[in-house]
Amino acid sequence: MLLKNALDALASVLFPGPCRVCGEALTNASRIPLCESCLAGFEEIVPPMCTCCGRPFHSQVAAEAAQPLCRLCRVNYYSFDRARSFAVYNDALFEAVLLLKYEAVGRLGNWFAARLATMLSREAVEWRADVVVPVPLDRARRRERGYNQAELIARPPAKRLNLPIEPRMLVRTKARPPQLLVSRGERWKSVRGAYATNEGVDVDNLRILLVDDVLTTGATLDACSRVLKKAGAAAVFGVTVARVRSWQAGLVSVAGAQKSRVHVKPDGGGGHPI
Ligand SMILES: [Zn+2]
Ligand SMILES: [Zn+2]
Repeated sequence: MLLKNALDALASVLFPGPCRVCGEALTNASRIPLCESCLAGFEEIVPPMCTCCGRPFHSQVAAEAAQPLCRLCRVNYYSFDRARSFAVYNDALFEAVLLLKYEAVGRLGNWFAARLATMLSREAVEWRADVVVPVPLDRARRRERGYNQAELIARPPAKRLNLPIEPRMLVRTKARPPQLLVSRGERWKSVRGAYATNEGVDVDNLRILLVDDVLTTGATLDACSRVLKKAGAAAVFGVTVARVRSWQAGLVSVAGAQKSRVHVKPDGGGGHPI
């Protein structure tokens, strides 16, 4: 498996081949391994949105409020200070996020980093951070996969923002349930008490940029943020590449997963980050 990944990675450097999402020939091989139309297929999340959790607004009334907050953020539902995602988790973005695991598509990582950095620079003062922390996997899953997707996503933006990255600040102490989580309640329950700060790590007064691949219900970012704040963090900001549409977040079910590949990671065997 490792050898195959290495060979794939090498091959993609030597033979820059077709678009890795749709298979069309690439006109510009030196750039990222996605064609222009696949890149255009990303549905970027733009205002109006909840100023706290970044949930896109569909109603003009909510968007025009003095302080546009969603129903959940009006009651301080989340423990993080704010969260944003680059784009909607559609098929094109699903494939692109999977590609990030190949070292040879580091350029794609840089491409996403540029988007995330631009997104944060729109409100640079509010997003001021001291350190970047990727959401960790539990040890067994990390071993099984050989990498942490969130860490791969977090590295290029950290470099771009000139911030240190602390992949060991958080640990996942409770294994993720092997089955797909059907309801919103189950998702929240599965991450309760699942994270801890690593021994000897100083979190005091830090403003932390927490990075993950996908935001579904916000339960993961919330659980990590709760732990970081308890350890003394001054602020926690969540950033993800993708965000599941809110009407889908409550519907991520086994039936849904069978119908659409969007909700099942082909390499991981079931499930999807929460
Ligand atoms: Zn394409
Ligand atoms: Zn909100």
